Amino acid sequence: MAFESLSERLGKALKNITGQGKLTESNMNDMLKEVRMSLLEADVNYNVVKEFIENVKQKALGQEVIDSVNPGQMVVKIVHDEIQELLGSADARLNLKKSGVSTLMMVGLQGTGKTTASAKIARFCKEKLKKRVLLVACDVVRPAAIEQLETLGKSIDVEVFSLGTQVSAVETARQAMGYAYDRQKDLVIFDTAGRLHVDEELMQELSQMKALVQPDDILLTVDAMTGQDIVTVAREFNEQLSITGLVVTKMDGDARGGGLLSVRSITNVPVLFVSNGEKVEDLEEFHPDRMADRILGMGDIVTLVEQAQEKLDMDIQQKTANRMAQGIFTFNDMLDQFGQMQKMGSMQNMLKMIPGLGKMVKQLDDEKMNDSMKKSQAIIQSMTPYERENPSCLKASRKNRIAKGAGVKVMEVNRLISQLEQMQMMTKMMSGGGGMPNLSALQN
Ligand code: GDP
Repeated sequence: MAFESLSERLGKALKNITGQGKLTESNMNDMLKEVRMSLLEADVNYNVVKEFIENVKQKALGQEVIDSVNPGQMVVKIVHDEIQELLGSADARLNLKKSGVSTLMMVGLQGTGKTTASAKIARFCKEKLKKRVLLVACDVVRPAAIEQLETLGKSIDVEVFSLGTQVSAVETARQAMGYAYDRQKDLVIFDTAGRLHVDEELMQELSQMKALVQPDDILLTVDAMTGQDIVTVAREFNEQLSITGLVVTKMDGDARGGGLLSVRSITNVPVLFVSNGEKVEDLEEFHPDRMADRILGMGDIVTLVEQAQEKLDMDIQQKTANRMAQGIFTFNDMLDQFGQMQKMGSMQNMLKMIPGLGKMVKQLDDEKMNDSMKKSQAIIQSMTPYERENPSCLKASRKNRIAKGAGVKVMEVNRLISQLEQMQMMTKMMSGGGGMPNLSALQN
């Protein structure tokens, strides 16, 4: 996960100061030195760090901080607000037209995730903004880009317009516009060609296309793993094309985060989306305030709830909650909950968003948990419908049969039964209240 070590180091630096009863220039300087090192190590641009520290210092040495009840916490808030300021003081969004056909050009270097992001944004606009979207395959340079976009389009049920690799990108874009008007689309997203480096030919092609389609937005995809290169690339694209926003991809990797933290203040181009996985649903709208919370280990419960609402099947959650309210929790409910947990994706990513639990992330092995969950699913699937609802009937011969069916040892069947019993006990205790089961009980 991006920002992991920055989060950790900043946490340490700020912890020292929140413990100090009185704020002096000397302990403040120690803290600032630590914060400065944390940012530089995260590969944040040197000038950005310099200005950041200066701003924090000025605000923190202000009279109201010194006189406040808890000066340490005031300083944490100042650092938080400055990080938010770096990321952009307000949420930036797409400039789509209220009516008529909006156009969006996706640009970026090869391999940054442009084609994938085109499909992700198409899905976002279709589902969240209720737009009739057309994807246009204008990357006629990279072999297989057209096919990739067509496959992605199919998976999200969005039409893809393509004229193959023999027709130029500009001509494809021209015909696509006519097609979009004829079919009353609301939004046309152009996936354009990338290169390994910014070059004249690419910029010319993109400029011609820009003149033709008059895009409401030009979004540049940048790879979080490339660190400060993000700034260089964004600057070059911005000079030539006046881009309207950034999509920062591969935030699920172990990027240090410096590029994302520097790019806004240097180029003044806002980040609109971050992409954190290979699947089409792995895209988040970017909120500077929530990201600042996450960087400072304060969690991001709002995004977690939004993701839960989007990804979980709320009917299943309601059904389980109703059953639990009556004190019922069986293997069928457990199976439902395993399915729901898998939909939420990585447990580590989820924990990071819960205030105070970020530190548990390191102790949790996603892969191990996934394996054990799959094993538990196999065990339950080897049970008869009657056994799933009436686990008390599970005596030795039935357990042997189930273990064989699932390819596990009887001991593991026993362990799952005792996990269910624990859950049932908890359910009885909280019956009347309903709600999600304690996921940690499902872990081993
Ligand atoms: P393009 O050349 O810029 O169009 O790049 P692609 O869209 O083909 O993406 C290049 C590779 O990066 C593919 O293997 C994608 O699956 C992968 N990718 C794209 N976005 C992400 C992301 O957010 N996280 C991860 N882990 N991989 C990504």
